[in-house]
Amino acid sequence: MRKFEGDKLVIASHNAGKIHEIKVLLDPFGVEVLSAGDFNLTEPEETEDNFAGNARIKAHFAARSTGLPALSDDSGIIVDALDGAPGVYTADWAETPSGRDFPMAMTKVWTMLEDKKAPEPRTASFNATLCLAWPDGHDEIFTGKVAGRIVWPMRGELGFGFDPIFQPDGETVTFGEMDPGKKHGMSHRADAFAKLVAGCFA
Ligand code: IMP
Repeated sequence: MRKFEGDKLVIASHNAGKIHEIKVLLDPFGVEVLSAGDFNLTEPEETEDNFAGNARIKAHFAARSTGLPALSDDSGIIVDALDGAPGVYTADWAETPSGRDFPMAMTKVWTMLEDKKAPEPRTASFNATLCLAWPDGHDEIFTGKVAGRIVWPMRGELGFGFDPIFQPDGETVTFGEMDPGKKHGMSHRADAFAKLVAGCFA
């Protein structure tokens, strides 16, 4: 396993919610964190059908383009009664001609579950796959998960994306209602991060 030894890291993402969460998680390591936007990078097409493949595309593109190590996150929500959808296509479900519309995408998930008369609890999990890539082409991959259920109606204004309909196991609030510090301690991204830190930063 290769260790991270530089002092600068590029986050290979244009998603403000993710960039913020990753910056908070990397805060203790004294690394200068830059983002794809700081380099005016375009977004590479995510052509793979799995999280690790798309995480690799994003991290290698940013590392090659900037000459710095780059960290990507490919994530999504997996709804069991929908055969794992939207999964790797989570962001795509929110796309509209005028930008991403997450209330619309969450309504679609709920409507599909209702149409299928899916039994309660409507179990789901968030997945986050991190890829740390170096400009020489080496990479390390880490995956984290958090299990929970889909609830309706949407609850909470905190977090981002599908947070208002995801209630993690053992909690009575959604990620959209949860104190961000608590979410950062238990999320799929936190789980993947703990593995990244143990592997590359320890
Ligand atoms: P991608 O990894 O950029 O392809 O997009 C992943 C999508 O999954 C995001 O746009 C969010 O909608 C969703 N997602 C990933 N992590 C979270 C999270 O922590 N909370 C809510 N939604 C998330």
